[in-house]
Amino acid sequence: MASSRIKGKTSKRNGTSGKMKDLPPPSSAASNNNDHRKFDLSELELLKTVGTGTFGRVLLTRDKKTKDYMALKVLTIEDIIKLKQEDHVRDEKAILSIINHPFIIKLHWTHHTDTFLYMLLEYACGGELFTYLRNSGRFNNDTGKFYAMEIISAIDYLHKETIVYRDLKPENILLDSEGHVKLTDFGFAKKLVDNRTWTLCGTPEYLAPEIIQSKGHGKAVDWWALGILIYEMLAGYPPFYDENPFGIYEKILACKIDWPQSIGSKPKKLIEGLLVIDRTKRLGCMRAGSNDIKNSDWFESIDWENVRQRQLKPPIVPKLSHAGDTSNFDEYPEENWETDASPVKSDVLKLFKDF
Ligand code: AMP
Repeated sequence: MASSRIKGKTSKRNGTSGKMKDLPPPSSAASNNNDHRKFDLSELELLKTVGTGTFGRVLLTRDKKTKDYMALKVLTIEDIIKLKQEDHVRDEKAILSIINHPFIIKLHWTHHTDTFLYMLLEYACGGELFTYLRNSGRFNNDTGKFYAMEIISAIDYLHKETIVYRDLKPENILLDSEGHVKLTDFGFAKKLVDNRTWTLCGTPEYLAPEIIQSKGHGKAVDWWALGILIYEMLAGYPPFYDENPFGIYEKILACKIDWPQSIGSKPKKLIEGLLVIDRTKRLGCMRAGSNDIKNSDWFESIDWENVRQRQLKPPIVPKLSHAGDTSNFDEYPEENWETDASPVKSDVLKLFKDF
């Protein structure tokens, strides 16, 4: 749709991270993976790149013995160090190892060599919600509501585990074979120690005002991002947009929102309650917590346990010819990623000894 091209980017948005006054990483990164299968790199067939990130790529992989398809996230240690992302990567592993929720991608196993870190994940074969959203321009009310509900279920679970996600956006919401949500990329997720953290990270269009203002931030940033996500799903473009990040930040802080007709009165009321600059007055952040969101008029008569049990019917069922189908993902050049990277010295490698 023309409007989405004018008001928001059609290309995928990268997350950014700038060190400010970070807290120490969680004390225990002990591995407690969701399943206890043993894997070996030599027993994995690396088939095709299905996604790329700032310092690595995600490959469709097949277990040579069981023939199960999985996704292997491969990160180049050299690049992680260059971009000072070692704490974030360790946090990502530590957090994925302890969580278990139907709408969050499962981590099966991690491994490292002197060049790469590996995370073996469940393969979400439906691709990114981002692709479906850009292809259809915007979602109708019921479609947007379905994804909002499954995301609320996942974020609510993370917050109860004292984890803030910090990178909600359609690019990080994948679909499984039936069309249910699988939240991925926990590279900015953080286990909160005292309810606040200070690292500036996230994706410009989705940043909460308190992150931009470096006030220290907590779970409230995810509920702000939910407001942006619901708006973007129903409008086809985010509410605060500019060609350059500083223009976006100014608009976020001014918080002036235009309402297209495609956003009905019930979701509008919810978005208005989420996009509140003062986080003590933001829905999800007051005494009733996430119940203020779940009880909004838009979700009238929704049984939230049914949502969690995957009982709602997905509005989009991905087209798939078989379990290892990659047609729902973009094409990526395979390059010489394995040979281009160099090993790191043993003192650097020590940082990842638990990986
Ligand atoms: P990430 O670096 O985790 O953001 O991953 C980059 C991209 O790879 C994502 O945006 C997805 O398109 C894809 N991807 C990541 N994890 C998975 C997965 N478990 N299954 C399928 N695709 C994935």
